[in-house]
Amino acid sequence: MAGIYIHIPFCKQKCSYCDFHFSTTFHSYRERMIQAMVNELVVRKETLSDTPINTIYFGGGTPSLLNENELKTIIETIYSHFLVNDSAEITLEANPDDIDAEKVEMWARSGVNRLSIGLQSFNPSVMQWMNRAHTVEQSKTCIPIAQQGGIKNISIDLIYGLPDLTIEEWEQEVDTALQLGVQHISAYCLTIEEKTTLASWVKSKKINAPSDEHQALQFELLQQKLKKAGFEHYEISNFGLPNYYSKHNSSYWKGDAYLGIGPSAHSFDGKYRSWNIANNTVYMKGIEAEEPAYDFELLTLENRFNELLLVGLRTQWGVDLQQLSYILPLSTEFHSTLTNFILKGWITQSETRIRLTDEGKSWADKIAEDLFVL
Ligand code: SF4
Repeated sequence: MAGIYIHIPFCKQKCSYCDFHFSTTFHSYRERMIQAMVNELVVRKETLSDTPINTIYFGGGTPSLLNENELKTIIETIYSHFLVNDSAEITLEANPDDIDAEKVEMWARSGVNRLSIGLQSFNPSVMQWMNRAHTVEQSKTCIPIAQQGGIKNISIDLIYGLPDLTIEEWEQEVDTALQLGVQHISAYCLTIEEKTTLASWVKSKKINAPSDEHQALQFELLQQKLKKAGFEHYEISNFGLPNYYSKHNSSYWKGDAYLGIGPSAHSFDGKYRSWNIANNTVYMKGIEAEEPAYDFELLTLENRFNELLLVGLRTQWGVDLQQLSYILPLSTEFHSTLTNFILKGWITQSETRIRLTDEGKSWADKIAEDLFVL
């Protein structure tokens, strides 16, 4: 099984915390960009020629800015050059201000069967400093519009651990999200990424960076409330009702191959990881000149070992120590660090499989890093 990721590098405006690749001045070249992506799909079809495609994911950027013709062109190109499964999951990331009955109908007509909606918050002052393009009202009304339009699989994104957001305010955010009747919630802990507006505010002390403890408390509350509401916590940032896990993201975590199309998109074929240039003009020129601009690396044994740990520990399936030892032998130092985490109550071990406890999930990346081989 494999997946195709399409990166749509267009946004209406720049959110203050975001360091993804996108442009807000794309109108003059959007047609040229779509054509470049179509060409890239055709040129790279051999990489997944005999592998069934289980998932297609439109991410960004803001894929909900695509018009019908653009979306259809990309989907039709995929169907004519790849072996797409009849039951493929086709996800489109959408922002609430782009969602109306007509667009939902168009997405469903084009084959989209899952929406991932970037709500982020229901708090007006948070939305303002984040510089989101939508209102709280739109965050609430877009879900019934999507449901009435026939999309039965809806995920929403939330962000927690925000500067000055109290635990009570966060609890309200989670309660509001639960009232929307969605099947999946992705909740990301705010990270202050370099070169973002938020990073400059923190540097100039206009805004206080939230503490790790503050973020951990909000994460614990999130886990408790979502579990109580019937959601399964299958990956650190992802909660789904039974049978509503993201198939696309799950396949990344299980190490399946994927093809990433568009500027900044990453690909993985089982051995090599590659990533397209994160520059719209250079990307388009490269494709047009048949000299695509990308970088790649062959994963070393150390890379594979560390990646299996980092990604596996974040999931409910955990990591199989035997599988890890097939890559590199487990050192005495590894075993003693692992024992410390087990004694601390952050990791449990059942036969050869290790998993994070609910408490350990608050420190997932730190735990994985301490177990890495260098
Ligand atoms: S809409 Fe999404 S991709 Fe675009 S700037 Fe905001 S967070 Fe980033």
